[in-house]
Amino acid sequence: MGTTVTVTGMILKAAPLKEYDRRVELLTLERGRISAFAKGARKAGSALSACTIPFTFGKFVLYEGRSSYTIQSAEIQKYFGDIAQDYDMTCYASYFAEMAQYFTRENMEALDEMILLYTTFLALQSGKLPFSLIRIIYEMRLLMIEGQGLELFECLHCHNTDTRSVYFVAGGLVCDKCAAKEKELADSYPFILQKDVLYSFQYILTAPVEKLYSFLVTDEVQKEMERFMRAYKGRYLTHQFKSEAFLA
Ligand SMILES: [Zn+2]
Repeated sequence: MGTTVTVTGMILKAAPLKEYDRRVELLTLERGRISAFAKGARKAGSALSACTIPFTFGKFVLYEGRSSYTIQSAEIQKYFGDIAQDYDMTCYASYFAEMAQYFTRENMEALDEMILLYTTFLALQSGKLPFSLIRIIYEMRLLMIEGQGLELFECLHCHNTDTRSVYFVAGGLVCDKCAAKEKELADSYPFILQKDVLYSFQYILTAPVEKLYSFLVTDEVQKEMERFMRAYKGRYLTHQFKSEAFLA
């Protein structure tokens, strides 16, 4: 016999199943990321219909079977309806959700991922920042949460704060003196960050999550941040995300 469990979470993804059902990926506070079935969710008038579409946040009552969860009922707390109305916003939201899905597992704590994703969706909706900047902030913060963050405050070896040379092989900043002493670093080129770019990244790594999406940068700074993120992800995140192809 299975039991019933109530979880708080967000629908990352939904796919049609059989004639009337849906299979969803849920990021939850209590159980990490789980798959669940929503029986009859595609039937007209189904109570599950509106609460099992992507980016819906709320409380879900699940029947826990031996090997799967089935949604029995749900209570929506936040419905990101605007996102679905806007094509570009949907593309970005899908990409952010896919990344969160990639990094989370069942029975793994996912509180930080969920708060970040929720806050990021609010930022998308608010329209105050360009989506491309939201993306940089989200990616950098998520990589930090997942233990792939870079040291961007001081030289990894001598703690000298007067350096802007990032060596991806080392995991962050290394000053010229220290880099010269290590053959692997002496033989490679650092990514030298402009001051404003470095400050922006430092802010992303340390700001309280609710303040993350509260700054703008010049086009020049943003281009440099994008160039940096490509190099950074090229080394630390080689997974290809399907939804990335749809980003503007
Ligand atoms: Zn040093």
